[in-house]
Amino acid sequence: MQLDNIECVSSSDGMEEDELITTPIAADATTSSAAGAGSVHPLHVSKPSGVPAAAAAAAVAAAANGVAPATSVHELLECPVCTNSMYPPIHQCPNGHCLCSTCKLRVHNRCPTCRQELGDIRCLALEKVAESLELPCKYFSLGCPEIFPYYSKLKHEAQCHFRPYNCPYAGSECSVVGDIPYLVSHLRDDHKVDMHTGCTFNHRYVKSNPREVENATWMLTVFNCFGQYFCLHFEAFQLGMAPVYMAFLRFMGDENDARNYSYSLEVGANGRKLTWEGTPRSIRDSHRKVRDSHDGLIIQRNIALFFSGGDKKELKLRVTGRIWKEQQNPESGVCIPNLCS
Ligand SMILES: [Zn+2]
Ligand SMILES: [Zn+2]
Ligand SMILES: [Zn+2]
Ligand SMILES: [Zn+2]
Repeated sequence: MQLDNIECVSSSDGMEEDELITTPIAADATTSSAAGAGSVHPLHVSKPSGVPAAAAAAAVAAAANGVAPATSVHELLECPVCTNSMYPPIHQCPNGHCLCSTCKLRVHNRCPTCRQELGDIRCLALEKVAESLELPCKYFSLGCPEIFPYYSKLKHEAQCHFRPYNCPYAGSECSVVGDIPYLVSHLRDDHKVDMHTGCTFNHRYVKSNPREVENATWMLTVFNCFGQYFCLHFEAFQLGMAPVYMAFLRFMGDENDARNYSYSLEVGANGRKLTWEGTPRSIRDSHRKVRDSHDGLIIQRNIALFFSGGDKKELKLRVTGRIWKEQQNPESGVCIPNLCS
């Protein structure tokens, strides 16, 4: 930890406290659509169905050269029922209509196109065509330059660095996805999340009826420092039989970049305090996953009430914290022979 590493001065630096009243947050009206980054389908070219084999072969050849096929073999590999990409086993009816294995289970052995009995016919030709295909990552319009064999594309896409992030807001089933700048404005505009500039904070969480711990009361504050965004979560939940409060930080970016930062949280009163020091988790890890791994400051309720002082009728926790950048480790990124492939 290097003190002279801290580059930003926070507006919340002083002793003034931001009073945050925790109220259960109703499932927000997140009406904004998941427009933009959500559905990316760069290869989907509308084309009449029934592409002849020669055209398919030409497209395969084009794809092998790393060129997006002019005739959409990709479309041939789209299940006509659910429109997802088909992976082996690809099935067909006696008349040659193809469908994916998931849909096959759902159609009660009747071809959805011609109503013929389906049987158990594989479409090996199409499986082979798929095998020979190379396609760009589906996040290619978001900047991913990679091209993959058809069957390893899915695996890459699940891990692709360019894949959009899910909205980090907890407490509502928000389906918004996008890049970080998009999500920052979404949090501010649609979830009305508090935004702070600076790498230190001093918050007071106030809850008027601490006895009533509904199975999660969420507070989210977003911090902007070092040119990055961090989500500070504070919540109440039931841990086994005991109600607890928990605070933790998530980094709005990938796991690798999250490791460049550290943070500390402190809560206390009356000469006692609890501190937590950790590395922020990436928002690629769901809020629930971080919570369930207890990767943060956990305050038992009796201690929380003790820290609150007074007649224990009200929860009043002052949480102070700091985010700092870790000294770049010169060893990091060095490939150790035999350990790296
Ligand atoms: Zn299907
Ligand atoms: Zn059929
Ligand atoms: Zn990719
Ligand atoms: Zn959201």
